[in-house]
Amino acid sequence: MELSDDITSLKGIGDRTAALFRRVGVCSLWDLLNHIPADYSKFPEPVKVKDIVPKEKTAVRLTIRGTANTLHVKGLSILNVVAEDETGTVLLSWYNMPYLKKILHPGMTKVFCGRADIRRDTLSLTQCQMIDPGEYESFRGQLTPVYHLTKGLTGKTIEKAVRTVLGECCFPEDFLSDEERQKLDMPGLSESFEKIHFPKDMKEAAYARKRLAFNEFYFFIRNVRRLRDSAQKTENAFQIIENALCTRFMETLPYELTNAQKRTYEDIIKDLSSDHAMNRLIQGDVGSGKTVVALLAMLTVAGNGYQAALMAPTEVLAIQHMKNISRAVKGLGIECALLTGGMTEKEKREARKRIEEGQAQIVIGTHALITDLVSFKSLALAITDEQHRFGVGQRKALSDKCNGKMPHVLVMSATPIPRTLAIIIYGDLDISVMDELPKSRLPIKNCVVDRRYRPKAYSFIKDEVAAGHQAYVICPLVEESESSDCENVEDYTCLLREKLGEKVRVGMLHGRMRPKEKDAVMRDFSEGNTDVLVSTTVVEVGVDVPNATVMLIEDAHMFGLSQLHQLRGRIGRGNSQSYCIFMDNSKSREMNERLQIMNSTNDGFKVASEDLKLRGPGDIFGFRQSGELSFRIGDIFTDAKLLQLASDFADSHPFLGEEETDISNEKYGLAYLL
Ligand code: ADP
Ligand code: MG
Repeated sequence: MELSDDITSLKGIGDRTAALFRRVGVCSLWDLLNHIPADYSKFPEPVKVKDIVPKEKTAVRLTIRGTANTLHVKGLSILNVVAEDETGTVLLSWYNMPYLKKILHPGMTKVFCGRADIRRDTLSLTQCQMIDPGEYESFRGQLTPVYHLTKGLTGKTIEKAVRTVLGECCFPEDFLSDEERQKLDMPGLSESFEKIHFPKDMKEAAYARKRLAFNEFYFFIRNVRRLRDSAQKTENAFQIIENALCTRFMETLPYELTNAQKRTYEDIIKDLSSDHAMNRLIQGDVGSGKTVVALLAMLTVAGNGYQAALMAPTEVLAIQHMKNISRAVKGLGIECALLTGGMTEKEKREARKRIEEGQAQIVIGTHALITDLVSFKSLALAITDEQHRFGVGQRKALSDKCNGKMPHVLVMSATPIPRTLAIIIYGDLDISVMDELPKSRLPIKNCVVDRRYRPKAYSFIKDEVAAGHQAYVICPLVEESESSDCENVEDYTCLLREKLGEKVRVGMLHGRMRPKEKDAVMRDFSEGNTDVLVSTTVVEVGVDVPNATVMLIEDAHMFGLSQLHQLRGRIGRGNSQSYCIFMDNSKSREMNERLQIMNSTNDGFKVASEDLKLRGPGDIFGFRQSGELSFRIGDIFTDAKLLQLASDFADSHPFLGEEETDISNEKYGLAYLL
């Protein structure tokens, strides 16, 4: 068995189970090993019945009293039996496990482990595990992995599969020598996988995780260098010079460019006429006005008789760009074309034709623009907005579309990160920073409150809606969850509809909806057909609805600071005063301190550097960054030191150029980056 084999090569895993595995992102055995636990659970210290705390995971040593009986309710069989210790009795229930009846006989003593509850004044344990007291002793204190699951796939199935792979597969040779490992204080390759899945204690889990995050960063960095290497070798196939089109356009702008916008535009102009193709990142704070800079670059290219393309991460954003840009360039004699998956075949055909024949000088679409069957007449500039950089494959696809001539590339990101991290993560790109907001903007007013403030918040939202504005409400979860008390979008939408009354139109958005549904909801909101949008963090990317002036973030303590900043960036985009309400339901002082940072500044770079200071490598399962900077295991903020370590390590291992494929990600099961 090879680690690159399909998951079906494991005994007992057929097509059906494999389909379930695929739903959690596991196709190969490597994927399985990289499906690391989301958490670990411990078998708790057994307690007496009188000390059981409802709603908590409980272990209790009980003797069965009486015989078990089976009830049938709505097609469900429920097995009930009473058990006791010297301090009280507990009702044990299992659903759809009728065969247990034969096992549960009176007088039998076991440790029962599960979540306790009080139902109709009766203390009960439902679906609990049953373990021999002697065996329990050996389990106690041991950690069991808790995996991300999907319906039909149990933790036990994953655990068993992982054990098989760890026992039977050969790992590739570790790319760290023993000496290097000792110096870095990290476990070996196979050891790190064993320990991340089955650690003795949390310390061991952290030790294993450190190695896995290091691998991930290291491969990523090598890839960044590979990209840099190829970019530096790329000659400028499209010599472009400044021309009158831009000047004419600037005269029509209803505002003056900020200094940061001007500086960035100058950087771009320099690149476009240099010896090498442009490879630039605009790192701009949310709302700093990146779009108009992109447009200036596109017009410069169009003025030289070439085409430029702008790619957005979603259709909604592409349509939004198309609307704004075609309005802005009206009167300049420039033609725009939109190409998205949602258009009819006929519309697409027409758009393609205009792109191929070169009538459309500015092309706007989703990433499908480079993967689809579109060919450009003369594409000289490709821009991605709020999106990953172009990876190795995408760069190739791009140049293929242009008869082997690599177009200039501009990447726009709205995730401010400290400079030290940026030069590692974006090592293949030249960086222009836009850290200045247009002067006309009113700074967002922030507040951090607790649940008691809710009635006030609702009436505030109602007032803003009555004044013609719109509001976002953000919840961490999609639906109710057993393991979390956090607010969820589904229930919260119902609650708000009730609290805000019939006149306020409340929409709902989350990542589990189909893309078409999501687009429709988003369009309704941006066209003003809904007043309040209850959403998960899916709105955090790029949406520009300047009429939205309030954002209420429930369970704000659940999000990373940079993520909160992204979310907040959805408001304060127009000329009206905007307000952001951070609802802190944590009661923890530390969390509150973090949120106070959001309260004290609207500057994304400041937020990011505070975020970096606050987080220590201690919180293994801390906040996840979302979007473009998310790694599978590592977190550039929490693991900033590790990222630096990986970068230094890469420095001391010279880049091999073409031979780099030898240390390909595939060999180490990390083929998902770049
Ligand atoms: P982001 O950088 O987050 O993508 P946008 O490009 O969407 O920001 O710009 C946000 C809003 O600011 C837009 O409505 C845009 O018209 C406006 N804007 C851009 N530059 C300026 C400026 N220099 N002065 C005033 N408003 C501006
Ligand atoms: Mg934008």
